[in-house]
Amino acid sequence: MDSLRTANAVCAAKKSAGREPSDRNGDGGQPAAAVRVDRCRDCGFCHGVRRAVGRAESLAAAGWNVFVDGELVHNGTVGKTLEKKNVVTWDGFDRRWGPRDCILIRAHGIGPERRSWLRGLGCRVFDATCPDVGRSAGFILRLRRRGYFLIFFGEENHPETAGLLAHGGKDIFPCKSADELAKITIQEGRPVAILAQTTAGIDTFNAFASRVLEKIPRAEVVPTICSSTRRRQEELLRRLETGSYDCAVIVGGHHSSNARNLSRLAASMAVPTAHVETAAELQGMELSKFSRILLASGASTPAVDVDAVERLLLFRGGAAAGGA
Ligand code: SF4
Repeated sequence: MDSLRTANAVCAAKKSAGREPSDRNGDGGQPAAAVRVDRCRDCGFCHGVRRAVGRAESLAAAGWNVFVDGELVHNGTVGKTLEKKNVVTWDGFDRRWGPRDCILIRAHGIGPERRSWLRGLGCRVFDATCPDVGRSAGFILRLRRRGYFLIFFGEENHPETAGLLAHGGKDIFPCKSADELAKITIQEGRPVAILAQTTAGIDTFNAFASRVLEKIPRAEVVPTICSSTRRRQEELLRRLETGSYDCAVIVGGHHSSNARNLSRLAASMAVPTAHVETAAELQGMELSKFSRILLASGASTPAVDVDAVERLLLFRGGAAAGGA
């Protein structure tokens, strides 16, 4: 879901559900006297992004001009910081490569053909594919060899999806909804497996897999949602289910699948939710009326961005302390 859910917009939704947060305090909508911001345990970079950014930085520190094959992470702040360190996003066009130029494959990974093409360019290639994405690619290759037909649940234009589908060739079918299964014919008795993008929503994938299993009971579900995504979504839901929060703020790039899923999950709990990439985006939002805020972040959000948002939330709420 791409839309930025501002506090105003979601407040209106909450009013209609009969749970106006400012009325709860009986203060007629005045800012709360104190605000508490609880930060989810898994905030900041996930292990895959930390590894990829670390790889890019250490290559640059060793004197390489690093050309990343696509955006290293879906986060503008990180991109700008890396540019200053001589790590740039490569446009994909061949160029005259210098002896200290290198190409870095990002955490999302790529398909086998692109990998071969990159290696034929005459430039040194380094690989920062996240091990969890590599694991999904390994599942696809092994299952293909065993004759499986694969159903892949993921975002259509996401680079990870493109890379994994390239591993599956003609034996994999990308799906956003179980209704799309009507478009394919699977040979009678052929084994079938269902896989998901590593950053898929746990709830939407489970619902999808259940629908597929109704249609194809022999299908097997392969656990490919990564541990970091799973932990972040589970913690967010667990905390919101307690009913202790009157607002959720998700920090993360607007193109980040991870952050968008967290935002969608929080909003699905009828909690006013704001998805921002930086603290500056909080300007203009009426957040001061909330007194108990849950703060979470996508996997490609640097901790400094989460810190900045947390500080601003506390300041706007008129309090000096808070935390999980
Ligand atoms: S979100 Fe998961 S799969 Fe993606 S880079 Fe992070 S750990 Fe790897």
